[in-house]
Amino acid sequence: MKIVSGMRPTGKLHIGHYFGVIQNWLKLQEEHECYFFIADWHALTNKYKETENLKENIRQMIIDWLACGLNPEKSTLFIQSLVKQHAELSLLFSMITPKSWLELNPSYKDLKFNLFYQYLKDFFLGKKIKINQAPPAESFEEAYEKANGKQKNKIFEEYLKEIFHKAFYNKKGLDFDYLKETLIKFGLQKKIVEEAVKNLKEGDVGKDIDTLGFLSYPVLQAADILIYKADAVPVGEDQLPHIELTREIARRFNNLYKEIFPEPKAMLTEEAKLLGIDGRKMSKSYNNAIYLSDDNETVDNKVLQMKTDPKRIKKTDPGNPEVCTVFDYHKIFTKDELLLNDIDKKCRNAEIGCVECKKILAKNLNNFLNPIREKRKEIEKDIKKYEKIFIDGSLKCRQIAENTMEEVKDAMNLYKI
Ligand code: SF4
Repeated sequence: MKIVSGMRPTGKLHIGHYFGVIQNWLKLQEEHECYFFIADWHALTNKYKETENLKENIRQMIIDWLACGLNPEKSTLFIQSLVKQHAELSLLFSMITPKSWLELNPSYKDLKFNLFYQYLKDFFLGKKIKINQAPPAESFEEAYEKANGKQKNKIFEEYLKEIFHKAFYNKKGLDFDYLKETLIKFGLQKKIVEEAVKNLKEGDVGKDIDTLGFLSYPVLQAADILIYKADAVPVGEDQLPHIELTREIARRFNNLYKEIFPEPKAMLTEEAKLLGIDGRKMSKSYNNAIYLSDDNETVDNKVLQMKTDPKRIKKTDPGNPEVCTVFDYHKIFTKDELLLNDIDKKCRNAEIGCVECKKILAKNLNNFLNPIREKRKEIEKDIKKYEKIFIDGSLKCRQIAENTMEEVKDAMNLYKI
């Protein structure tokens, strides 16, 4: 099978990337014809202002991919912007893609939702909001009354999210009136609510994704995939709508002009559950990630900061590994089954302290990272040699992509020389 997949160069890779994507690619390259690319154009769709680190991020991605074992003899590794045919095909696809397909794209809407919600949350919490009256929802009211300090904020955040969700996913588009009325009814000061809603309506929130490039990135994605006539694309659940869009674009092109493109299948990837050290989704922006390039000491420190079972305060309290991020990591990095079962048992019986448990994890995590770190050092010493792998891969892809473009131009009756 022919498989295409890419990754945005946003900086050094962390272990979440490894277990979410790379591990799967390593398997795929053993069995299929794979094309893996650094999606630098996609990195610009929402980070177009921040290009100062782009080249370095690409370099780090090259180092990380090769250090993890992606092998140019088994898969074709390349850089998207070095194969200009992706942009050419994307342009032609944009002619046949109805705007509504993009505007209804759930990940576009969800991203906008998150940006707006984040803004509202920061706005109200930053103003140290005062609630004027008891909130209307009964269960919420009870919870809010009982809570204090940080808990109150947490409850408010949840409530705000619920209200904003209703306002945002309204059939007719963001319902500002509903949002305003409900928040005032909830007890927030009218003046503050009006200011927040006005800022949402007229301010800069979400403007970074209010670009043609961001709206149409699924079209570029379709071109990335279809230009190689891929049979399948490995994706997480949240990417499924994009693949569906790629299939629809292929179908539309084939119907309009000539049967050129196969409709690629989505290969659902099972992602290992690996949260950040604070228990939230692992992300560079949350500053909670463990990087493949972190040294021993950094890993030791990060593991020591990791969230454990919140109910386990003292060593004498029995713990519950099922709700502990450290134990989720153990399941991946502690290969010795007996040791794993022993930790589980001792935790439940309060026979092991969290510090000791974390030290075992840090040792195993470092053992996993050691060969990657060694390989990274080797690559860094001779980076030009390894960059050439990606340049050669890009040249090979140009040829394949150009062949597809010839077929496309013929089908569309475009002028050729
Ligand atoms: S002993 Fe280990 S598994 Fe149990 S709560 Fe502490 S860190 Fe988590």
